[in-house]
Amino acid sequence: MTHDVAVIGAGATGCATAYFLKAAGVAKVCVIEPDPTYAKASTPVATGGCRRLFGLPENIRMSQFSIGFFKDFAAHVAVDGYAPDVQWRERGYLFVVGAGHEKVLEQNYRLERELGVNVELLDRSAIAERYPWMRNDDLALGGYRRKTAGSIPTACCRASARRRRRWARSSSATASWA
Ligand SMILES: Cc1cc2nc3c(=O)[nH]c(=O)nc-3n(C[C@H](O)[C@H](O)[C@H](O)COP(=O)(O)OP(=O)(O)OC[C@H]3O[C@@H](n4cnc5c(N)ncnc54)[C@H](O)[C@@H]3O)c2cc1C
Repeated sequence: MTHDVAVIGAGATGCATAYFLKAAGVAKVCVIEPDPTYAKASTPVATGGCRRLFGLPENIRMSQFSIGFFKDFAAHVAVDGYAPDVQWRERGYLFVVGAGHEKVLEQNYRLERELGVNVELLDRSAIAERYPWMRNDDLALGGYRRKTAGSIPTACCRASARRRRRWARSSSATASWA
């Protein structure tokens, strides 16, 4: 059996790579994963937070793209009438730093705003007001984005596994568990 591309590992990175290779028209994509239980993979244990708050433009742009994709995840990966619910919830994301790290957060803030991220800077008293239950004596500054969201990574994995099996049944693509 020959393939155009073999992707090693079926965590979030491998699944996304395979999905977008197929979407780009690559005919035969093989995903090789030795452990269908994902016992040692990072993806199923991730919290599922999808933030736009980064210090590099590439990361912010990748996140903006992937958040658009996740919002419509069910439609993108629906297979044979099964549309996974990844429980997308937009609850906000707060990134905090302690004293001495304010400059980095301020730099990030400017870059994030430049790239269209609706982020606010919160000082310690604003953080305390918004999150009265949070210990804040060691906090200096926070970057907060109101609508940053989270999803369920295991649901993403399961959905991607179904998609791979569906491709495997089609004539143009294969997937395999090695
Ligand atoms: C506790 C925790 C919380 C996290 N929370 C978040 C979060 O909220 N938001 C966020 O964006 N990120 C979060 N992350 C990070 C995120 O989980 C990882 O960046 C992401 O899952 C990495 O995906 P991956 O596909 O690269 O790796 P993995 O999910 O680890 O997948 C790698 C796969 O490759 C397979 N493999 C390994 N070696 C081979 C081989 N030789 N041949 C074939 N297959 C192989 C493994 O079996 C595995 O299934 C968190 C991570 C952890 C640990």
